[in-house]
Amino acid sequence: MTPFFKKNVDRRSRAAMVDFLQGHCRYDTLRSWNRLTSYANNIKIHRLGLSSEQDDKAYQILGVDYWDDISSPVDDFTLEHDHRYTMALNGRSDGYLVLHESALELTGHLSYCPNCVQRNFKKVPPEAYQDNNETVIAREILNSQNAWHPGVYLGQPAIQALSLSDEEKLPLIVRLKTALQDCSASDACGVCHQPRHNFSVPPSRLRVIGKSIDQDEDFAADDGWSMAALRDRVELVCAFDAACDAVRSNFIALLEDYAVVEVTHYRPVQVKTLVAHAA
Ligand SMILES: [Zn+2]
Repeated sequence: MTPFFKKNVDRRSRAAMVDFLQGHCRYDTLRSWNRLTSYANNIKIHRLGLSSEQDDKAYQILGVDYWDDISSPVDDFTLEHDHRYTMALNGRSDGYLVLHESALELTGHLSYCPNCVQRNFKKVPPEAYQDNNETVIAREILNSQNAWHPGVYLGQPAIQALSLSDEEKLPLIVRLKTALQDCSASDACGVCHQPRHNFSVPPSRLRVIGKSIDQDEDFAADDGWSMAALRDRVELVCAFDAACDAVRSNFIALLEDYAVVEVTHYRPVQVKTLVAHAA
C-alpha cells in the first residue's frame, strides 16, 4: 500500500517534527461552534487521489452505506492505542476523519437476559446457599431490597424462628448483606420475565472525548516539549495517518470489487376482486 496520508518524519530533527505537527491538517472535534480542533485528514472523494475511473465509480456509490465495510482500521487503531485514542468522522457528509482522545468505560450492567437481550444493573442472586439458615436470611434480605440495618432483620419472624442465637445470626446477616449488595430480588428479566444471567466480563463501551488535541500548542517553546514527548506525538499522528491510509485503501478495494447495480423491489399490492359465494 503506497502511503497517501502518511508522511516520513525525521524523528532526529526537532524542527522536522514540529513542522509536521504544526502543518498537519486539522478539523473540528465537535460542531464547529465549539472551536475545538484536532489532527484530521480530508477524506472527501475528490481529495482521495483516485483515478478517474475510480472517481466515477465513487460518485455512483454515493448514498450507499459502506462505512462498516471499510472502517475496520479504526477499530485496530483504537485497540493498538489501549482505547486512549480513537478516530471519528466529522463534518458535512462526514468528509473528515479526526483523531480523538477516548476512554473505555464500564456500562455498569451486571446481568442480561438471553431471551430478549435486555441488560440489567443488578446481579442475579445465588441459586443456592450453604444451609437453611443462610437461605432464610438471604430471602429476607432480598425481599427487603437489602434496605435495613442488620439489627432490624433479627426481628423478622422467619429469622426469629431459626435455631441460632442472635449473636450467631448477626454476623451471618452482615456477611450476606454484603454478598447480596448488587443483587435483585429474583433472576427475572424486567421485560420478558425469563431468567437472567450474570455477565462473566462486565460490558464496557468506548467514550469518544470531544476535547481538542494540541490546539494552539507551542511545540517550539524552550520549556515545552522534550524530544521524547515530540517523538511520541509524531508516532501517534503517523499511526493515525496510516490508519486513514488503510481506510482509503479499503475504500479503493471496495470500488474495484463491487459493481453498483440497481435492483427493482416488487412489493405485494392489495387489490379488490369479486368472488362468487360458495354454493
Ligand atoms: Zn428478557
